[in-house]
Amino acid sequence: MYDYLIVGAGLYGAVFAHEMKKQGKTCLVLEKRDHIAGNIYTALEEGIHVHKYGAHIFHTNDRKVWSFITQFAEFNRYTNSPVANYKGEIYNLPFNMNTFSKMWGISTPEEARAKIEEQKKEALASLEGEPKNLEEQAISLIGTDIYEKLIKGYTQKQWGRACTELPSFIIKRLPVRFIYDNNYFDALFQGIPVGGYTQIVEKLLDGTEVRLSTDYLEEVKKAKAQGCENPETLGLAKKVVYTGPIDAYFDYSLGTLQYRRVEFEEEILPVDNYQGNAVVNYTDADTPFTRIIEHKHFEFAHRYHADGSLLTPEEEAADPKTIIYREYSVEWKIGDEPYYPVNDDANNALYAKYKALADQEKNVIFGGRLGEYKYYDMDVVIKVALEKVQEVISAG
Ligand code: FAD
Ligand code: UDP
Repeated sequence: MYDYLIVGAGLYGAVFAHEMKKQGKTCLVLEKRDHIAGNIYTALEEGIHVHKYGAHIFHTNDRKVWSFITQFAEFNRYTNSPVANYKGEIYNLPFNMNTFSKMWGISTPEEARAKIEEQKKEALASLEGEPKNLEEQAISLIGTDIYEKLIKGYTQKQWGRACTELPSFIIKRLPVRFIYDNNYFDALFQGIPVGGYTQIVEKLLDGTEVRLSTDYLEEVKKAKAQGCENPETLGLAKKVVYTGPIDAYFDYSLGTLQYRRVEFEEEILPVDNYQGNAVVNYTDADTPFTRIIEHKHFEFAHRYHADGSLLTPEEEAADPKTIIYREYSVEWKIGDEPYYPVNDDANNALYAKYKALADQEKNVIFGGRLGEYKYYDMDVVIKVALEKVQEVISAG
């Protein structure tokens, strides 16, 4: 009998297992995929740590979270500074003085503000009150030129809908700065773990039994068929920590929550540097993908041997390689891998109904990005997992 049956070997499940082990509790982890680490899984290919489920940049303002995560890896000084490519024209992101000066040939914050104000007045003369959709919100923030070149096409590709039909909150998280600063995140701590993310989860799960390629919900079905008294624990543990999709746990009985999904097209190229940056967004409407990630730039173009040592310049020159991922945004349907929860009003309302059902499950803790249906970044996942452990331990 284990103390906890943890469903999902992602970051939430691994942090929970690690902390509970420190408290002397026993955990069994079941993972549907054939590897640990959930969406932060990285794999070494051609000497490059490839982010297999999309680019992950660690950033936080929380000292406690930063000191927690840095126990398990050394972080490099990578700063996220994406570049936008609009039909061959290159602009810095997020929107800042570098973007404005390239777009308009201006040099001071005053000139930039005046330009935005002028374009906003012209385009939104008839607007009364708050912006009603993403288009109006974007034009209010940075004017029509940037909206047309850097937002309109990208957003439509990413969300599969016109900007006039999207809520304004989506764009609010993008910083607009009147200083020359290409750093995307306003975070005190930022970086990429040297050696990738998978090793962090490996260390978190050290000493904990993990069963891969095991779908918990299928196991519950079997347990029910066998007349097991507490099918949700599979008769194996006192409590369950479930980090899969909350609607799947309840067999979608109230309806399906929506997710956004990303598809990656991987290409291995015989060059040492393809695009000169880790992230390049293609912001026009005609290019079918949203962005290209060149993974080696997350680690300053270093390549590694399996033992963690760096390739020598001679080894690099003899066999230059880079790996790129073209990202396509696609509709999600049941059975697909869920990526981003769509936290709009309709989906949040449906989630609230599932949450009410979840609260009645006495033996099950729902956690993580899918279990709580929240657009959590990694730092928040760590924070909420640590808090949950504290809460459970204090409750005895
Ligand atoms: P997950 O990683 O999804 O883990 C859940 C695990 O449960 C999975 O391994 C899944 O296979 C397993 N599971 C589900 N159902 C079952 C079942 N029935 N039986 C057994 N196992 C099951 N965060 C950042 O901080 N910075 C970033 O730059 C960033 N970029 C991102 C880019 C993308 C494309 C995505 C999708 C996310 C990004 N994130 C980023 C968020 C980050 O991935 C999450 O915060 C984190 O991975 C969530 O961890 P989790 O354990 O909650 O979920
Ligand atoms: N966005 C855009 N152009 C860009 C980058 C972002 O229009 O070059 C918009 C887009 O609508 C996106 C939102 O800003 O959904 C938030 O972007 P971010 O990259 O922060 O979001 P994520 O990819 O993490 O969802």
